[in-house]
Amino acid sequence: MIIRNITTQTISIPLKLPFVTALRRVTEVMSIIVKVETSDGLVGWGETAPTAVITGDTAPSIIGAVNEVIKPTLLGLDLDEFDNALQKLHTCLVHNTSAIAAVDIALYDLRAQSARMPMYKLLGGAKQYIYTDITISLNSLEQMVTDSIAAVQAGFSILKIKTGKDWRQDVSAIKKIRAAVGDDVKLLVDANQGYTPKDAVRAIRQMESEGVTLVEQPVNARDLDGLRFVTQNVVVPILADEAVFSTADAIKVITTGAADMLNIKLMKTGGISEALRIISVAEAYGVQCMMGCMMEGKISVAAAAHLACAKNVITMADLDGPSLYANDPYTGGPSFGGQLISMTKSNGIGTIFQHAR
Ligand SMILES: [Mg+2]
Repeated sequence: MIIRNITTQTISIPLKLPFVTALRRVTEVMSIIVKVETSDGLVGWGETAPTAVITGDTAPSIIGAVNEVIKPTLLGLDLDEFDNALQKLHTCLVHNTSAIAAVDIALYDLRAQSARMPMYKLLGGAKQYIYTDITISLNSLEQMVTDSIAAVQAGFSILKIKTGKDWRQDVSAIKKIRAAVGDDVKLLVDANQGYTPKDAVRAIRQMESEGVTLVEQPVNARDLDGLRFVTQNVVVPILADEAVFSTADAIKVITTGAADMLNIKLMKTGGISEALRIISVAEAYGVQCMMGCMMEGKISVAAAAHLACAKNVITMADLDGPSLYANDPYTGGPSFGGQLISMTKSNGIGTIFQHAR
């Protein structure tokens, strides 16, 4: 199975509501779709999202990397020698994990299609469905309460509350949201690096008494000592997100006790192959993982959902992107029905870009 062509296409998908975190505010998902065509007539689909504030990658840097570096490296390679193709992909340029992710995902799609298996089965086949949380954006207190109630009414039972601008206001928001949604709804908090280590401990201790079950990346991604200080001084599990891009990062976070769990995102790892290595490390150390995504299109979120369903060590999913779209220009693949994401029998990822409706 020889790689014959690689093409890119940029699309934008409007969101129902603006997505707001301590780092950014977006009103649409910009997505770059990558198609890899082979001599067997198969088409592998990959996708990526420029999230400059987290990965440093922009749309022109991704498209340039795919067309000017990755494409000439991969054309003519035999995908039956899969590890060689992956190695060439992952060594032909440094950084730009978003560009590498798009192509890596497409190569795994092709591998699963040629094996005539859904991707989650090829990668491990642990389960057929997973529940995702839904993100509550960082807004005024009243807006966050309204959005939380609406999410619960729409059937979501796990809310990921974005915080990190002002810890006292964040504690008030968690209290008001807990009072509004009741005790049966699971509350996760994502501070997106917004606190100092000491403020994080102050905030999280109060959030714990509201039954918050997880706090994500409370402090700066590079401050592993600060992250460990937080982890050691609160009871609720701390999840490392922006601090873990690579397997080397994961080993460091786990062996220094900087966090209790890892959030794996394909845009940080550069796709499935590096994510699988992180998963192996997590399995070896008995560390549970969340499978997350940026504001991404449905092909890459579907790829992440396949991986989440492939592995038992992934016990949580933050793959709410598709339920935030105002319209859905994709067809096929896993079904995203509210908080339930279910696998289907279609080979590969199964999700393809249809057209702008
Ligand atoms: Mg996060």
